[in-house]
Amino acid sequence: MDAAHDRNPRNRTGSRLVPYGTTIFSTITARANAAGAINLGQGFPDSDPPRELIEVVSDMHLAGRNQYSPMPGLPSLRGAVAEDREGRGHVHWNPDSEVTITSGATEALAAAFLGLLEIGDEVILFDPAYDAYPAGISMAGGTPVRLSMEDDDFAITRSTLEAGISSRTRMLVLNSPWNPVGRVLSASEIAIVADVCRRHDLICISDEVYERLIFDGSHRSIADLPDMRHRTVVISSLGKRYSCTGWKIGWACASEAITAAIRAAHQFLVFSVPEPHQHAAHHALSRLDQSWEHELHETYRKRRSLLFEGLRGSGLNPRHTEGSYFILAGIGDHQDSDDVSFCDRMLQDSRVAAIPASIFTERGQGCTRYVRFAFCKAERDLNEAVARISRMSTNV
Ligand code: PMP
Ligand code: GLN
Repeated sequence: MDAAHDRNPRNRTGSRLVPYGTTIFSTITARANAAGAINLGQGFPDSDPPRELIEVVSDMHLAGRNQYSPMPGLPSLRGAVAEDREGRGHVHWNPDSEVTITSGATEALAAAFLGLLEIGDEVILFDPAYDAYPAGISMAGGTPVRLSMEDDDFAITRSTLEAGISSRTRMLVLNSPWNPVGRVLSASEIAIVADVCRRHDLICISDEVYERLIFDGSHRSIADLPDMRHRTVVISSLGKRYSCTGWKIGWACASEAITAAIRAAHQFLVFSVPEPHQHAAHHALSRLDQSWEHELHETYRKRRSLLFEGLRGSGLNPRHTEGSYFILAGIGDHQDSDDVSFCDRMLQDSRVAAIPASIFTERGQGCTRYVRFAFCKAERDLNEAVARISRMSTNV
């Protein structure tokens, strides 16, 4: 009976979402748990946020802050987001009319696509691109236009970008530091993107969730360039910076007109996000001693080297990571037919989970010799993972 209902076409997933299946992060974590594997796949830290922040959350729950919070977010948190950015040299955003608190960066992305796109609008993505971009664009009725950066060693060039522009192009999505590549885009790449946005009158969605995890170079936001502030949506979140990915507190900063579009969607997507976590976010951005972040940064710097050297020593070809907590590694001499087969074998035989990088590309056809490893994990696990990978045979 149930099976018959399950097969009824009435109940099928909408065609806009069918191509995206189940997200790789859920799939790999479930498989890693089932196999008892070391999970270097899904990017979440395996340590806690600062205790002070956890205490704010529990105090607020006990103090009765358990009802809806204001739709655009707590005014104090919106103010702290604006001050935090300005304090680091970025453009000023008006907390009342230009900052919106969202359910993680994921919802900020969805609200921007849903709030701004018309059916058939094209949105440029630089492949390999985070999986929520194409899915979010499709949900909003837009069309992702994916440009492969693999042949240019993952650099954005004017010619590749210009080749993707059409009369239907409405926006593009930029992500620096870049998941899964680990690059921090250079000043000249960002200048090229800004120039193309101005000349073709495009909106730029700038996903900056790894802005505080930069090990070489410094963070540049495209919104700070001339004539870009009013056409950029800066998206970021608390999760990576304070090791609280499960709290899902994010934000979108954009001009008043664009913010109105984002809020038009946000009010019907989630309306508002949990108040206790917003108080904790406010505390983190405005009161927490900087030493916590500094220590996390040093820990990640060490783990980045450990994983890089370990992967190199085990016969893979890791790329140098400038920012984010990921390393993209070539599979070297391993004879597996592609990244998916390599990851399957590594998970089954060596009990180490990682993400096949092709899932970040159009129809899974790019980056088929690359695998993404997360280093926001305990040193002991990184060492053990590397030891296991070293023992893998290159023959299948
Ligand atoms: N953008 C990128 C590039 C990400 O890697 C992630 C996931 N960590 C997100 C957005 C989503 O962030 P959040 O967990 O705050 O929703
Ligand atoms: N952003 C994280 C990653 O890239 C995962 C987020 C998620 O699981 N949705 O691994």
